Amino acid sequence: MTLLEVTDLTVSFPTVDGVVKAVRGVSFSLDAGRTLGIVGESGSGKTVLTQTLLGLTPGADISGSVMFEGNDLLRISEDDMRNVRGARIAVIFQDPLTSLHPLYTVGWQIVEMIRAHDKSVSKKEASERAVDLLRRVGIPRPETRVNDYPHQFSGGMRQRAMIAMALSLSPQIIIADEPTTALDATVQAQILDLLLRLRHESGTALILITHDLGVVADIADDVMVMYAGRAAEKAAKRDVFYAPHHPYTMGLLESIPSSSAAGDRLRPIPGSPPSLINLPSGCKFHPRCGYVLDRCLTEEPPLRPLGLDAYHSSACWLPAKAAGLSEQAAELRARMVREGRGEAAAEVFEAEVAGAFGIDGSVTG
Ligand code: SF4
Repeated sequence: MTLLEVTDLTVSFPTVDGVVKAVRGVSFSLDAGRTLGIVGESGSGKTVLTQTLLGLTPGADISGSVMFEGNDLLRISEDDMRNVRGARIAVIFQDPLTSLHPLYTVGWQIVEMIRAHDKSVSKKEASERAVDLLRRVGIPRPETRVNDYPHQFSGGMRQRAMIAMALSLSPQIIIADEPTTALDATVQAQILDLLLRLRHESGTALILITHDLGVVADIADDVMVMYAGRAAEKAAKRDVFYAPHHPYTMGLLESIPSSSAAGDRLRPIPGSPPSLINLPSGCKFHPRCGYVLDRCLTEEPPLRPLGLDAYHSSACWLPAKAAGLSEQAAELRARMVREGRGEAAAEVFEAEVAGAFGIDGSVTG
């Protein structure tokens, strides 16, 4: 069953320097009990996208639709949105220390969350529920720790407390915005295990925003890779890792440190994400793409199904058969470059991509 249907969502912010085109025509859907990983570098629009779903981008120009439980969230009143935000769709923010109020106990904040949405729950009942929730997310001795202040919790415990708050009203969807970024690797693994277990127990759907494909590998069912405010590639998790099509997705995969490549240099994606005020012409990834063709400089590719399965789609001019890490796919990409790269694209490649690594213009993989 589809819980959330986002169609052609566009979000821009007028500023004195120009219009920031933060999200440009993004569509996706989320089914009950599924996890969608939204991946991309900082500035790719993933946080603005999810904040807009909950009416948290005041001052923005917004178009498109966000259908949830029969209502378009972009068009409901602020009062109605308050009943959705937190209760039906909850958010776990990146930094629990700044998300929790330092002057109130953790328990008080969970009780407040519960009673703000349902005044019929007594304080005693809400307090008992807060203890239960802390126990559920693995806080030791929750009966006493419920009276602690956020600074008395470790980073991992604070993130668990945020997850307890998010769960307090049994939401249909949880949006977790980089929930493990501020945590060390061991605690990160524990939090991901916790999210997986809770999703399994309660059937809650999860939108996980991250720049870390390793986190996606652990927890997501489907993946949307975002670049410059748009979906560059959408696929089931397996396809993202074993049959990526968009060169940006391939670049993200290649930049993951691997123990089998110990001693080799890491391969970062050259250059930086573009300014969302002055986007490049054509494909927005072209200044950083090792496969740039002449048409990429002038025509922005639409997100189109690759025909490999119902879901896999990519916004790139390379043919569908160029998807994957096989030698044939690499040879096809190389052939496309030989045939489709004229002087204009060669100049961009030499200046931006080859220059960044000191490599020649031949593309083999
Ligand atoms: Fe690279 Fe062209 Fe594909 Fe853009 S459309 S990702 S520039 S090959």
